[in-house]
Amino acid sequence: MLKSIVLFFTVLFVFSSFALSTLPLKSHASTDTVSAIGQYDENNIFAKILRKEVSATVVFENEFVLAFEDIHPVKPIHILVIPKGKYRSILDFSEKASDIEISALIRALGTIAKKMKIAQDGFSIMSNSGHDGGQTVPHLHFHLLGGEKVAWEQTMRSQKVDIDN
Ligand code: 5GP
Repeated sequence: MLKSIVLFFTVLFVFSSFALSTLPLKSHASTDTVSAIGQYDENNIFAKILRKEVSATVVFENEFVLAFEDIHPVKPIHILVIPKGKYRSILDFSEKASDIEISALIRALGTIAKKMKIAQDGFSIMSNSGHDGGQTVPHLHFHLLGGEKVAWEQTMRSQKVDIDN
């Protein structure tokens, strides 16, 4: 009797381990959208990257701007360009950021496009705001996409599908 119980639990354990191991790994990047308005959340992932608590592959940095590779690139070149200031979205950035912060960010976008060697063939820049925009990280960021043709709507849609699966 004891032998059968042990055998039963052993089989159950082996089967559950196998079943769990076949599940797709869930990405740590969330697909939950966030509001573009409201208080700045100090614990958002980009704030952690800025504080160097989370690592990222940085491609450009100056006093006002940080740019790093997206963890789930949807194009051969997929860079996230963010202001170092605490802005949740384009709404508070356009309202509260200084002229120097705003110009630094726009200038950085051009500089990074050239640095990533996508200036010649072209690229797309997008920034998602709030729930309808599909924003998932509540720190203003611009997606710089290139390295192949960008059909922006399909690109962003397939990104969300890839993360879900
Ligand atoms: P959104 O959906 O807000 O427009 O874009 C957020 C982006 O941040 C997504 O493309 C997602 O892949 C990226 N992302 C989320 N978490 C991390 C992370 O920990 N590191 C990096 N490098 N990118 C991240």
